[in-house]
Amino acid sequence: MNLIILGPPGAGKGTQAVRLAEGLGIQHLSSGDMLRAERASGTPLGAKVAEYMDSGALVPDEIMIEAILNRLEGGGDTGVLLDGFPRTVAQAESLDEALGKAGRPVDGVLELKVPRGAIVQRITGRRVCPKCNSVYHMEFRRPRQEGVCDNDGEALIHRPDDTEEVIVSRLKNYEKQTTPLTEYYAGKGILHAVDGDGSVDEVCARLERVTRQLSGGR
Ligand code: AMP
Repeated sequence: MNLIILGPPGAGKGTQAVRLAEGLGIQHLSSGDMLRAERASGTPLGAKVAEYMDSGALVPDEIMIEAILNRLEGGGDTGVLLDGFPRTVAQAESLDEALGKAGRPVDGVLELKVPRGAIVQRITGRRVCPKCNSVYHMEFRRPRQEGVCDNDGEALIHRPDDTEEVIVSRLKNYEKQTTPLTEYYAGKGILHAVDGDGSVDEVCARLERVTRQLSGGR
C-alpha cells in the first residue's frame, strides 16, 4: 500500500507516520528527516538545503523531487508512507508519474486537520532526538528523563525552525503551497480528512480506521 500523510507543520504527521508504517509493515519516508540527516552528515545536498530549512521556506521542487524519487527507487515494493512529501502540486505530479510508471499508484492520502492554536502550542513545545528522530513534547509527551531520548539516551534538541517566528512563515507557506494539494487529491477521489486533534492514541485509531478501509477491511 502506498500512502501519503498530509497536514500543516505540527499536525503530528511524523509521530503518527512512524506508528502507522510500523503497523502496516511499510517503509516510512520522511522528507524532513531525510534532509536533516543530509545536513548532519555534511553532504552537498545538506549544504544546499540548510538555508531554506532554517528560514521556514520550502526547498525548491527540482532538488526535492530528485532526492525523494531516488529514495523511492531503492525502497522495494512493500509500499511506502510518505511524510512531508509532496508539499507542492509539482511534487505531487512528479510523484504520480514515477509511481505510475512503477505500477505502484498512491492508494490514499490522509489529511490531518488540527486547529491553528493547537499547532503553535505543539511546535513550540516539541523536542526531537537528533539520532533516531523520535518526537517528544515538553508538556504532552515527556521523555522518561528530562531532555534525554528514551530510545538511545541522546540529548533532545529544539529544532531551529520550531521557533515562533519561523513557524509563522512555515504555516503561511503551507497555506499557499501545500493546501492546493488537498484539491488535487480530492479530485482523484483519494483524499481522506482525519481529525488530528486529540491524544496520539486517539488520532492513531482514526488513521488506522481509514487504512483498514483502504486495504479492504483486512
Ligand atoms: P518537516 O520536518 O517535514 O517539517 O520539514 C522541515 C523542512 O524541510 C521544511 O520546512 C522544508 O524547508 C524542508 N522540506 C521538507 N520536505 C519538503 C518538501 N517536500 N518540499 C520542500 N521542502 C521540504
